[in-house]
Amino acid sequence: MKSSEIRQAFLDYFNKQNHEVVESSSLIPGNDPTVMFTVAGMVQFKDCFLGKEKRSYTRATTSQKCVRAGGKHNDLENVGFTARHHTFFEMLGNFSFGDYFKEDAIRFAWEFLTSKEWLNIPTEKLMVTVYHDDNEAYELWNKKMGVAEDRIIRIGDKGEKYNSDNFWAMGDTGPCGPCTEIFYDHGPEVRGGPPGSPEEDGDRFIEIWNLVFMQYNRTADGVMEPLPKPSVDTGMGLERIAAVIQNVHSNYEIDLFQHLLNAAAKLLGQTDTTQASLRVIADHIRSCAFMISDGITPSNEGRGYVLRRIIRRAALHGHKLGGEEPFFHKLVAALVDVMGEAYPDLAKNQELIERALLKEEEQFAKTLDQGVKIFDQAVEEMSGTEIPGETVFKLYDTYGFPLDLTAMVARDRGLTIDEAGFDVAMNEQRERARAASKFDVDLTAKVTLDKATEFTGYDHLDGQSTVV
Ligand code: ATP
Ligand code: MG
Ligand code: MG
Ligand code: MG
Repeated sequence: MKSSEIRQAFLDYFNKQNHEVVESSSLIPGNDPTVMFTVAGMVQFKDCFLGKEKRSYTRATTSQKCVRAGGKHNDLENVGFTARHHTFFEMLGNFSFGDYFKEDAIRFAWEFLTSKEWLNIPTEKLMVTVYHDDNEAYELWNKKMGVAEDRIIRIGDKGEKYNSDNFWAMGDTGPCGPCTEIFYDHGPEVRGGPPGSPEEDGDRFIEIWNLVFMQYNRTADGVMEPLPKPSVDTGMGLERIAAVIQNVHSNYEIDLFQHLLNAAAKLLGQTDTTQASLRVIADHIRSCAFMISDGITPSNEGRGYVLRRIIRRAALHGHKLGGEEPFFHKLVAALVDVMGEAYPDLAKNQELIERALLKEEEQFAKTLDQGVKIFDQAVEEMSGTEIPGETVFKLYDTYGFPLDLTAMVARDRGLTIDEAGFDVAMNEQRERARAASKFDVDLTAKVTLDKATEFTGYDHLDGQSTVV
């Protein structure tokens, strides 16, 4: 089955179970300052869970565009390192707004995954987790679905006892609840341990589907208010389930990514499509193109700065592979080939996306080469393994290297960066600007312009600490 057929099968299955097929919403959450991007299928239904909004249906199903590259849900640093994390992915979901609860949610998921008429996955390849004290879910898996006890794992809140978390929350506030997750075992040839174990982060046991039993609304002061009615929110990554169905061990080996990887390899004169840099580029073209298609433009703050940082990362990976000309924007065509049908806006906005990417690539190209030289020079001159804060600041301030970009280049070479030193240099610059502003208004204006690359964080958006 192709990815597009899996997406359709999912929607068909839930439509048969009386779910309304609803379109994906924008990557920009509608009128909701508590999350930076749409991070899950439930985001567009938040008010339905809270009982603030009534719709003509109580069951819905979607294939939702998601971005996890900023705020509470941020997988940017995982991309290229795990087989399963992307900045952009599609989340297949089914939702109950006070309609069915645990029993049906579990039954639907199990039927879709394992029955012959649908995905037909052998049950012995699957494992499930439940929230540590959720005996009801445990019994449903064990008694009703026939999952053996040694394949059901209890997991609580992340901490000393558990390596991962079985309580899902949209953000610091909002709907949340205990969950049960379904894992697929990619086999002993892949490194990694079962859910909850210290080796969980490997790629052997991959979480494919999360079923959340939405029961609470977490308020700003941390109080857990019960929702008007217990509800269900589920999410399954299309790319992860496609890897299972297509019998490959990495999301990057599925049909959709192969097309993008081949296109990127061709543009950059590469033959090995398993290289991490190419994977990062193939990942990043999706988030960048969809963000622009949904109205985000590269800028120095908020979502626009996340977009800028991702484009610059892609440009840097291209540079690393010897790319001298802007190449990234040329990948939009390949993306439209594989996703334009499911997302007509993407095809419609192709030209606009290409132009925005090219502009950003050209702008960064002016300082990229020079920045890399500065970095190399600093590495040559230093004695330890930490890039001095002043260099990191210079790269940021003069060469347009966002902090996380420099950290990425450093990590690539087994080095770290002096973040505290960077903060000091940044504060000194702020002080200088402030002092100057006391004496000369015009000078202030100039300083402000010079500092156009400064990003002061998005605290106001999602309560994260300042990100520069
Ligand atoms: P993981 O533990 O692997 O990071 P998660 O528990 O953070 O996943 P959820 O928030 O439960 O993920 O999201 C629901 C589903 O969406 C996951 O089960 C997975 O299939 C998919 N998913 C989550 N994050 C990503 C990502 N960054 N890239 C691709 N798919 C993802
Ligand atoms: Mg995660
Ligand atoms: Mg998880
Ligand atoms: Mg999960």
